[in-house]
Amino acid sequence: MIFTVAIDGPAAAGKGTISKAVADHFGFAHLDTGLLYRAVGAKVLAGGDPVQAAKALTPKDLEGDLRTPEVAQAASRVAVLSDVRAALFEFQRSFAARDGGAVLDGRDIGTVICPDADVKLFVTASAEIRAERRYLELSEKGIEVTREDVLEDVIARDKRDSERSEAPLKPAENAVVIDTSDLPIEVAVAKAVSAIKACR
Ligand code: C5P
Repeated sequence: MIFTVAIDGPAAAGKGTISKAVADHFGFAHLDTGLLYRAVGAKVLAGGDPVQAAKALTPKDLEGDLRTPEVAQAASRVAVLSDVRAALFEFQRSFAARDGGAVLDGRDIGTVICPDADVKLFVTASAEIRAERRYLELSEKGIEVTREDVLEDVIARDKRDSERSEAPLKPAENAVVIDTSDLPIEVAVAKAVSAIKACR
């Protein structure tokens, strides 16, 4: 059974939590595609070439701590390069087509990677709320940041992700939009689950 759920949206909108929860709920495999770009970004911070890094990516490269503000910015800088996106395309496509169902979350899953996905969700929230969530997440991990810096980072990344010419961040035409600004996460997950049930 091939069944693809595409979940897109800006940083810290709740995509990751919702994706994991719906993958668990339906027994689907989950791919956080942001990790691919983060892994390439990390290699570039270490002095590598972005396109070579994307072509040579291995599962091992996705391990380790890629969830730092520096790596996030590096990821969004390599993500504007069409050769990097092209190098990561096939892996994402085959993941989506695996037997048993797949959830992919990212920025361009419903628009470019899986335009024929069975369900498309666009998960969003205000920049201030997303920045506050990211701030709490980073502080909990012991990463020292200020609220102002995190908000600036979120805004810079949103801008770069949505203004790039290649696969910009935007909702697919037929995406169900879930705004998590004022929603408890359980309610957001329940909305996602019912949107998927409606298409099964
Ligand atoms: O989702 P995450 O914050 O981990 O993504 C890091 C960066 O990777 C994003 O800011 C974006 O530039 C890029 N990305 C992308 N396309 C995807 C997933 C992530 O361009 N499908």
